[in-house]
Amino acid sequence: KILQHGGRNERKIRVFCRIRPVNRSEATQGGAIVVDKLDDYSVSVETLRGLREFQFDKVFSAEASQELMQSVIDGFNVCIFAYGQTGSGKTFTMVGDKDQKNPGIMPRSFNAIFNIMQENTSKFDFKPQVSAYMLELYNDRLQDLFVSQTGEAHAQTQPHGPTRRVEIKRNRKGVVFAQGAETKEASSAQELYALFQQACANRHISATMNVESSRSHLIVGIMVESRNLTNGSVNSGKLSLVDLAGSERAAKTGAKDHQLKEANSINKSLSALGDVISALSAELPHVPYRNSKLTQYATRVKAITNNAQRNVDSKEIAQLKE
Ligand code: ADP
Ligand code: MG
Repeated sequence: KILQHGGRNERKIRVFCRIRPVNRSEATQGGAIVVDKLDDYSVSVETLRGLREFQFDKVFSAEASQELMQSVIDGFNVCIFAYGQTGSGKTFTMVGDKDQKNPGIMPRSFNAIFNIMQENTSKFDFKPQVSAYMLELYNDRLQDLFVSQTGEAHAQTQPHGPTRRVEIKRNRKGVVFAQGAETKEASSAQELYALFQQACANRHISATMNVESSRSHLIVGIMVESRNLTNGSVNSGKLSLVDLAGSERAAKTGAKDHQLKEANSINKSLSALGDVISALSAELPHVPYRNSKLTQYATRVKAITNNAQRNVDSKEIAQLKE
């Protein structure tokens, strides 16, 4: 659906396919590989309705290392989503493995951002500033992951609610922002990673799922602002990294009420995301961002970056941030 429009690589939206290797339990159960990489741009999949071919901007084989994924990060005004069923390798690709022997796109991009900044500051007279917010979208509710969801850290400040709700708002200038979401500054990749770990520890974990956090969307936003100290101009960019909830349909068997609610809200937000991507790639005049919180917020990468390449005074930036 997405790839019917436009030519390879030149489009605003690029779709990559990554095939993960068969794991041990699949191998012992005699699982068959149903995805075949035909070339760098296409795969064939054995479906119940026969062999089907799919096109991508690039296909990464099961042997692709985590370093290869670096090629996905090619700019700052970017939003990267990992989409797929639970177990397909989204978290591995976005976050990496548990012990971070194979870090994923998120920690890699933290390093990339600071490396690029370092290069720039040595060349120009720039004052860069990196800040981040980390949110979880669970059952249509945006939660700030810088706030502990057990309520411990929060109890002193707000005794009436264990969690802090984040609401999506739009300011006078039409800029979309998350009200109530904390942004934290980081002065190194290590600091940013520490914030990320703190955020992950605060994620919602459904006791009934063996796969941690696969029922919620993890949204990491990194804002980079650099002020040119010679002429005062400010460049800003935002990188959104999203580990989506599993794309499997509502459980067919034995789904409890809350599981159905989870599944319905995930299905709703993912289909809204599909609609937004389709509209963007078809360059339709109307893009239905407002149909879900996921699309309303995570995809609006332009929202905070409209000021790039023009002079903005610090008061205006402060207002925008607010
Ligand atoms: P998802 O987040 O989509 O539910 P995970 O990222 O948790 O899936 O991946 C499921 C399992 O497969 C994990 O144990 C993960 O370490 C492993 N895995 C996923 N992709 C790869 C890969 N490219 N190479 C090796 N192991 C992988
Ligand atoms: Mg996952």
